[in-house]
Amino acid sequence: MAAEVVFVGAGPGDPELITLKGQKALERAERVIYAGSLVNPALLDHCRPGIPLHDSSALTLEEVVEIMVSGAKKGEYVVRLHTGDPSLYGAIQEQMDRLSQEKIPFSVIPGVSSVFAAAAALEREFTLPAVSQTLILTRLAGRTPVPEKENLAALARHGASMAIFLSVQEIGQVVESLRSGYPASTPAAVVYKASWPDQKILRGTLADIEEQVQREGVRKTAQILVGDFLTSPYSRSKLYDPGFSHGYRQGKAE
Ligand code: SAH
Repeated sequence: MAAEVVFVGAGPGDPELITLKGQKALERAERVIYAGSLVNPALLDHCRPGIPLHDSSALTLEEVVEIMVSGAKKGEYVVRLHTGDPSLYGAIQEQMDRLSQEKIPFSVIPGVSSVFAAAAALEREFTLPAVSQTLILTRLAGRTPVPEKENLAALARHGASMAIFLSVQEIGQVVESLRSGYPASTPAAVVYKASWPDQKILRGTLADIEEQVQREGVRKTAQILVGDFLTSPYSRSKLYDPGFSHGYRQGKAE
């Protein structure tokens, strides 16, 4: 018996955006605990009929860990399905640490984060040459505090590409903090439910994105993306420039 707990990134919503490895883990699972609030239930169709499925949205950490530990101790292969990629706002460290204490083997299968599904929906690249080579992933403080040195206003001063999770319900506060670092004309977009059938895209600038979010009534499950990468002209990449040599290609002289 392969007693083990596998944390699987479910992807952003579209059930085809799970990895092959994640899908195989679901096919093999003898018990699944899934984050019912955001994971697409269609993914559970990969599971063998009749296996226990637990929605973690109403459970505490202790209850989740108890289900994993008792399952693994019975010899089960337990899948813990998290939205997007589990390493981002997934609260998996505390689960992994408790499994370590209990000496239960575990592993992690990454997933497609909603931040990447949002960029795909917008057909934009976060890292445009001469625009920004840095992507900041962050959130507004909520019940989970954000360390003071990482407050949005401080991060905004970098002028980098930015993706803000878990914060659209406070769009007014997000915009106000960002505007102490970015000019009001900075492009901003909100992608609601990226990759789901009811995906919605709002595009604007820091001057008008708040109004659009209020008008459309977007209050959850959205990425706020900010930065010149959304619209700017850029320098073409060196990597694919005919005049540029690298390990795989000899550049041509002008
Ligand atoms: N681990 C997840 C994030 C979990 S936190 C990931 O990698 O995507 C939950 C937040 O993620 C939401 O508040 C929202 O900001 C974002 N999110 C999750 N799914 C989303 C989706 N399909 N579209 C846009 N944002 C999403």
